Amino acid sequence: MTATNSVAGFTGTGTVFNPATGEIAGEVQWTDPSDVEKIAAGLRTAQREWEQRGAKGRAKALARFAVWLGDNRDEIEKLLIAETGKSSTDAAQEVPLLIMILSYVIKVMEKAVAPEVRPAPSAVLSIKKIAIHFRPRPVVGVIAPWNYPVANALMDAIGALAAGSAVLLKPSEQTPLTAELLRQGWLASGAPDVFAVVQGAREVAEAVIDNSDYVQFTGSTATGRKVAERAASRLVPYSLELGGKDPMIVCEDADIDMAAHAAVWGAMFNAGQTCVSVERVYVLESVYDKFVAAVVRDVEALQMGAGEGKHFGALISEQQLAVTERHVKEALAAGARALTGGERASGPGSFYQPTVLVDVDHSMACMTEETFGPTLPIMKVASVDEAIRFANDSAYGLSASVFSRDVARAKDIALQLDCGAVNVNDVISNLMCTTAPMGGWKTSGIGARFGGVDGIRKFCRQETVVAPRTNLGAGGNFYHNSLKTLARSNQVLTKLALARPRRIAK
Ligand code: NAD
Repeated sequence: MTATNSVAGFTGTGTVFNPATGEIAGEVQWTDPSDVEKIAAGLRTAQREWEQRGAKGRAKALARFAVWLGDNRDEIEKLLIAETGKSSTDAAQEVPLLIMILSYVIKVMEKAVAPEVRPAPSAVLSIKKIAIHFRPRPVVGVIAPWNYPVANALMDAIGALAAGSAVLLKPSEQTPLTAELLRQGWLASGAPDVFAVVQGAREVAEAVIDNSDYVQFTGSTATGRKVAERAASRLVPYSLELGGKDPMIVCEDADIDMAAHAAVWGAMFNAGQTCVSVERVYVLESVYDKFVAAVVRDVEALQMGAGEGKHFGALISEQQLAVTERHVKEALAAGARALTGGERASGPGSFYQPTVLVDVDHSMACMTEETFGPTLPIMKVASVDEAIRFANDSAYGLSASVFSRDVARAKDIALQLDCGAVNVNDVISNLMCTTAPMGGWKTSGIGARFGGVDGIRKFCRQETVVAPRTNLGAGGNFYHNSLKTLARSNQVLTKLALARPRRIAK
């Protein structure tokens, strides 16, 4: 049996195959796109009670779901491995991340959506009490990719649910199974029916956009553009978490072993199918040979294969493998050398050998396009300035990493990189920092995902309520007042407002 997750047609039921073994992972019931409207309407009704429950009540439901995730981790990871061909090491990363996000969200959600009192802008307006209320967007559509079927399905949905929204999730058509299990878990943990899953490809995703009040999209840049256009035509806000080509810079004063360990893990983790994987490395020439030798040593020790006892598993599909193959082949034809790997693995399943490429440059796709495979192209540079120039020479701007024993210097380099996050002497670790947002610059995205109270508030509309502090009078500029009084009050307000500009302009 061919190992593939692409399922012909999206009507009735479909079979999902394990890309590592070709075995059947499970069956999925595809959603008719015309049913999405009805499903969204059901969520809209259920959402009212969810919002009225208040942040404290919702926190309890989210806490129970976190406990369910912890209790059912083995079952979730087993299914995850079956539908993605991941190693168990890689599969084991997703549920803990969600529990960390849930734990943080439960702690801050009440404060995040509590009304905020704002000061009066001038003495005249101090008779007013100004409050900003955070009201949830009723239905948040979440469209997810296949690379982290558990984490990408829920890492933002948690913030939406905390805000008081209902969530309409469409997982990738290549990995539909774990999402169903997560919904079952949500209901089994006692939570109300405010989290629905619809299954399918483009047509169902479009129906999700057409029936949501906010679109949370994770996927490729090309699809992200289409999502933005469709959401914009309805004037519905969106957040796009898109592709990346993350650079790593290794300075001459770096701990070379540490940098090599990080580069190999960052590039090969999940078979390179991570938006924030290390996709290219720039190394100062004085430490280049030492770094390359350490990387090759680490890569040669890797065990590839799905399930237990392996470092990383299969690529999701033959199409994904073909992209990796093309990038490596083109680079080799243009003068690059593969120090390890360089071709697909023999035997069944969509596996590609972990590959270290040297003598690469920016004329090659492996240095400019997102590969999303287990490859590590390394380029020698003459100076840190040159490394920064190359790192920024990209249409993408998701994240980056800098290695130097001088942390202050590394931070200074970080602030010269055009991207949403930089890890110093580490890779990918910003994802664990659930207090901080994660967002891409340039074609890597718009907005930011989870992290901090922003990851909850982004799903809310702000409603300003201005009320009198006492019942003595509204204090308004009504026609009922004489025209003279109106003119005088206008004069006073303008004079007061001009006081600061006059002082500062001096
Ligand atoms: P993809 O764009 O092919 O698909 C993503 C989702 O969009 C799927 O659910 C798909 O069914 C749906 N879709 C397809 N056509 C659509 C349309 N016209 N309108 C709306 N939705 C549509 O991406 P993929 O191959 O599943 O995922 C890999 C990509 O995701 C990579 O580029 C990776 O970098 C990116 N990614 C980014 C982040 C991040 O945080 N920035 C995280 C994970 C993955």
